[in-house]
Formats: sequence, structure tokens, C-alpha cells
Amino acid sequence: MKVLVAVKRVIDYNVKIRVKSDNSGVEAANVKMSMNPFDEIAVEAAILLKEAGSVDEAAVISIGPTRCKETIRTALAMGIDRGIHVETDARIEPLAVAKILKIVADKEAPDLVLMGKQAIDDDSNQTGQMLAAFLGWAQGCFVSKLDIAGDRATVTREVDGGRETNVLKMPAVVTTDLRLNVPRYATLPNIMKAKKKPIDTLCPEDLGVDIGPRLTIRSVIEPPRRDAGVIVGGVSELVDKLRNEAKVIQ
Ligand code: AMP
Repeated sequence: MKVLVAVKRVIDYNVKIRVKSDNSGVEAANVKMSMNPFDEIAVEAAILLKEAGSVDEAAVISIGPTRCKETIRTALAMGIDRGIHVETDARIEPLAVAKILKIVADKEAPDLVLMGKQAIDDDSNQTGQMLAAFLGWAQGCFVSKLDIAGDRATVTREVDGGRETNVLKMPAVVTTDLRLNVPRYATLPNIMKAKKKPIDTLCPEDLGVDIGPRLTIRSVIEPPRRDAGVIVGGVSELVDKLRNEAKVIQ
């Protein structure tokens, strides 16, 4: 069985995001970048399946500028076998990513595509669903448990009313939620070994994909500042403030 994992290079989740002074986007120059946290979980899931003997080959794909190779290397150091880099400096939207992943999935013929439920930079939560639609494959989104047996993937998802378990016929697209696993750190020997693992480089034009944007960003603005909280002396003061200052009770 073969798995393809999609990983996006994003601004590290610890970085305090700053909006550009012209409101055209967020400041990404000289900012620490990392693998999207949900994609780390997808990478870990692929490696666990390999270790369990369900998967023979795990490949990772990232779409974006040259430095995405570092993100691919991180996945290789964690235990993925090989990388695919679709290199572009253009701003790519989820639709374009899904189109590229569709062409690569047609070529690679994986049994399972694993990806994050959302990228923490654009928070789109669209790519996995669109990819499954393009491929005509089953999809399991926001998965917090994954079991493979034969050509079936059993996935558990957190839904409004609790948990839902679905059985998907593979090939399928599965997107990961936080509770699926805790990703491992790459060890130094594995970081060294990863330098020798192969990475194929392609560009969107090679794949014949139109990655032209369909959306226009009109303005990016900071959320309104919240006033500092106050510690009240007791219940009567709290009730007084709620009634007379916040005016949320009568
Ligand atoms: P999104 O729909 O943008 O929230 O992203 C959902 C998932 O799609 C991410 O967690 C990644 O697994 C995958 N993805 C999005 N953008 C890229 C990219 N540029 N390269 C590789 N995978 C991506």
C-alpha cells in the first residue's frame, strides 16, 4: 500500500503575526516557518502505518517556494521515504493546490492521501475536500482515529453530537485532526539520513495546471484590541459591574 502526504510550509504557530503596514497581507519576511501542525500529524500517521506494516511506501508532497524543500526534509527525517516538490513562488489558493495534488495522485496512484484538516495560515479547510471531489474518491475529514484493514480505512471524526465512525473504501483522502496522534521529533541520525533521500522537483507548468488566483485579497486587518481584564473583589462587585457597566444583566 502506498501513501501520499501533503505538507504546507506556514508561519510557525509560535510567531506573533504582524499585519503589513499596507494591509495587503501578513509579514512573512524573516519570520520562522515550519510544517503546518496538522500536516505533521498526517506525516506521523503515515509513518505509524509504515511501522505497523500496512504501508510499503510513503511519499510527501509540498507546493511552494524553494524553501519548501526544508519542510519536505523534515518529513523525510521523521521517516517518510521520498519527497515531491512542486516549486512555485506564486500565491496558491486551495483550489490550485487541489488541482496539483489531483494530477500528482493520478501519476503516483496512492491508496491513501493524508493531509491536514486545515492550514493554519489561511485556515481554509478546503483542500482535502476538493481533492477528494476531483479524484472521485471517498473522504474522511477531521479524523481523530484511523485504522486500515485490507482496502478499507475506518475513521473516527468528531462531529457536533459526539463522534462518528465511517468506513471508507480506498483509495481515499483523509484529513487529520489534533487528537489523531502526537508527532515525533526527528532524531539527529535520521536528519542526516534524510539528506540522502530523493526529492523530485516539478513545476505547475510541467503538470499543465492553471494556478491563477480566483480570489482577490482586498484588505488584511488586525482583530480589534481587547481591553485588559479586571479582578473583582467578590460576587456582589461582579454582579454590580455586569449590571451597571457591561449592562448584560438587569
Ligand atoms: P487548507 O485547505 O488551505 O486549509 O489546507 C488543508 C491541507 O491541504 C493542509 O493541511 C495541507 O495538508 C494541504 N495543503 C494546503 N496547501 C498546501 C501546499 N501548498 N502544499 C502542500 N499541501 C498543502
